[in-house]
Amino acid sequence: MGIFNCASGNSIWRGLDYYKGKKVVSYRKLDDFRYEGKVNGSHEKVYHVLLDTKHPRRSKCDCPHADGRRVVCKHMVALYFTVFPDEVDRFLKEVEEESIEYANYEKELYQKTMKHIKKMSKSELQAALIHIFDIGPEWIYDDFVRSYVEFR
Ligand SMILES: [Zn+2]
Repeated sequence: MGIFNCASGNSIWRGLDYYKGKKVVSYRKLDDFRYEGKVNGSHEKVYHVLLDTKHPRRSKCDCPHADGRRVVCKHMVALYFTVFPDEVDRFLKEVEEESIEYANYEKELYQKTMKHIKKMSKSELQAALIHIFDIGPEWIYDDFVRSYVEFR
């Protein structure tokens, strides 16, 4: 089900908060993939949500964020998690796996970069350093001057 591909990260996390806060007042199943529900919003407003799990962008909500637009809002996400509570763990596990994957990628890239730096010649390293001073923020140059030039 592609609801997470259609929703912004913000809507997903806020929707999860709404689910945990039991903001979904009631819902009913309309057919195999559509649900209708009432979700408590901020300022004691109740929003009417039509959740289409097959075509998430056809979902509807009368909140200011989603009304008249083809976006997935936090109320739709809250309703989705209420109808499919098992999806909460699956979603959180997926996020965790992605962040582990990303951390591994960053670690690998760092090791690759260090290996490459050790192979660079003196003139290549000098050119790279000057390039960093040219494009980097001022503090990098200032820090270099303080650490390696002024007090030597
Ligand atoms: Zn909404």
